[in-house]
Amino acid sequence: MSTRAFIDVLVLGAGPGALAIAAALGAENLRVEVLAASNHTDPWPYTYGIWGEEVDEMGLQHLLEHRWKNTVSFFGSGASEPKADANKATHHGRDYGLFDKKKLQRYWIKQCDAASVQWHRGYAAELEIDENLCTVTTAEGKKHKARLLIDATGYEPVFLKSRKNWPIAIQTCYGVVGRFNTPPVEEGQFVLMDYRCDHLSSKEKEEPPTFLYAMDLGDGRFFLEETSLGLAPPVTLETLKSRLKQRLAHRKLELTSLEHEELGLYLPMNMPLPDLQQPVLGFGGAAAMVHPASGYMVGGLLRRSPSVAKVLAKAMRDKNASPAALAEKGWAVLWPPDLRRKQALYQFGLEKLMRFEEAQLRDFFKGFFALQSDQWYGFLTNTLSLSELVQAMWTMFVKAPWSVRWGLMGMQGRELYLLWQFLKPLN
Ligand SMILES: Cc1cc2nc3c(=O)[nH]c(=O)nc-3n(C[C@H](O)[C@H](O)[C@H](O)COP(=O)(O)OP(=O)(O)OC[C@H]3O[C@@H](n4cnc5c(N)ncnc54)[C@H](O)[C@@H]3O)c2cc1C
Repeated sequence: MSTRAFIDVLVLGAGPGALAIAAALGAENLRVEVLAASNHTDPWPYTYGIWGEEVDEMGLQHLLEHRWKNTVSFFGSGASEPKADANKATHHGRDYGLFDKKKLQRYWIKQCDAASVQWHRGYAAELEIDENLCTVTTAEGKKHKARLLIDATGYEPVFLKSRKNWPIAIQTCYGVVGRFNTPPVEEGQFVLMDYRCDHLSSKEKEEPPTFLYAMDLGDGRFFLEETSLGLAPPVTLETLKSRLKQRLAHRKLELTSLEHEELGLYLPMNMPLPDLQQPVLGFGGAAAMVHPASGYMVGGLLRRSPSVAKVLAKAMRDKNASPAALAEKGWAVLWPPDLRRKQALYQFGLEKLMRFEEAQLRDFFKGFFALQSDQWYGFLTNTLSLSELVQAMWTMFVKAPWSVRWGLMGMQGRELYLLWQFLKPLN
């Protein structure tokens, strides 16, 4: 059967993952359609942060709504440090930004429209794949056929098979946007992590640690978010809410007007790699592209979509290539062995952090941000090579205080398994 009558790629979803890959495929002159349960212009629910240098390198700084130069974290004082250092800020010396979500969405939609990408609304419900085509049937009974299917339906993908072989660590947060009796952070400041915990009782300090992510939005408005880095089972919304209240009360801060409340956002951090042999390709959260240490993904989507699209465009030139053969090429460029190895190391690191007690965690992050700036930045943006990543982790280990080193050395749970994946990456 000739596949010429059919489109090249059907992308499922209308989140950042779907739009990024649809735009990149369109730029390669492929015939692309997008099928999503939501409208592709619907506003996205989350706030997307990114390091300034990431957007600068791609020439996309105009997509930011806010940008901070004064970027800091607070890790309190360590056991061997004077108490007077408890409120000393760690200065990151790198800009941080928040995307203007509408602009980011329009940026991708504009590229899609320029490439005549077709938009369809519908809930993908069934999939058939044969030697030539993928056929998706929607809940409404409509059929869509394409040579390749890319599932970008988020963390619980509709068709992609993932290896659900462990409990997923979930990042949870409770946030408020509003005005306060006194500024909760300095004017023009962005706080990546405030791990100070002097507002907690000794018993509360034994519970899973949480930190404050905070920023000055200008005009007297601030965004404050109590966050748990990632845990299975996750820290509950009630705990985060009461932790934020306690933190504010301790610093005599009062919310005088509440503009917006972010209720218990839920972000899976250590998604296992999808099965890379399957005849459907994934992209975005569905394909485990979220960074297991930071929870970020948009920078990775922007950086990685063009190379995936290029390889697929080349593979599509073979008119007899089956959906499975096309997906195989896509998986190979999306998850090459070095990236799989790095993923195993990141997940190994997250396992360690999830076991750390509050004081150990604070010491760990102090050491982490004392690495060379390019090292911690490359670690957080997943832009280090495999050997650079290993070097950064080794330096961190060597320089860490003994309390942290012990925690890093003892192997528990699935840590050995993850180290094995580093040596022998999953297929
Ligand atoms: C709380 C939170 C905060 C985050 N903060 C950041 C951040 O600061 N910076 C950053 O880089 N990343 C961040 N992320 C990570 C990541 O960028 C987002 O999760 C991002 O939204 C994932 O994009 P996605 O397109 O993969 O999935 P989603 O945004 O979840 O989109 C999935 C799409 O699939 C559609 N869909 C679902 N099922 C079907 C179906 N059966 N048929 C058709 N369509 C379907 C949905 O309608 C939706 O359009 C955050 C994530 C969360 C949860």
